[in-house]
Amino acid sequence: MNLKLKRDGLKAIDGHVLKSFPRECCGLLLGKFGENVIEVEEVVGADNVLGSPVAFEADAELVFKTIKRAEKSGLELVGIYHSHPKIAAYVSARDSEMMKLWQGFAWLIVSAAKERVVERKAYMPKDGEIGELEIAVM
Ligand SMILES: [Zn+2]
Repeated sequence: MNLKLKRDGLKAIDGHVLKSFPRECCGLLLGKFGENVIEVEEVVGADNVLGSPVAFEADAELVFKTIKRAEKSGLELVGIYHSHPKIAAYVSARDSEMMKLWQGFAWLIVSAAKERVVERKAYMPKDGEIGELEIAVM
């Protein structure tokens, strides 16, 4: 399964990640679920209401409003992204707990150092298992 991102969407995510460093940032991925592919059409940065270097929680009202707006333009919520300042883009214990509530969505994790993105990984929790997604940039 592929997670397809547009170049400018990826740039927006990287910018948000670096601007928020050393705190974690998070955001929403809007697009469409296809056959073996998740196409991201729009990236929406969210405030990390926890303001933490090791945890994130998106502003609930923004999430609600964004999903409503996406529906009107024929898109749906397909995933979320968050950053891992100073640590690798692995699924943390906290992530894996949260993934139980976000089954069937793409999870993009971006690892960052002070001034650069180190790595990006994408996962898909489904049916109680966590698979890895291939990231493709259009
Ligand atoms: Zn995480």
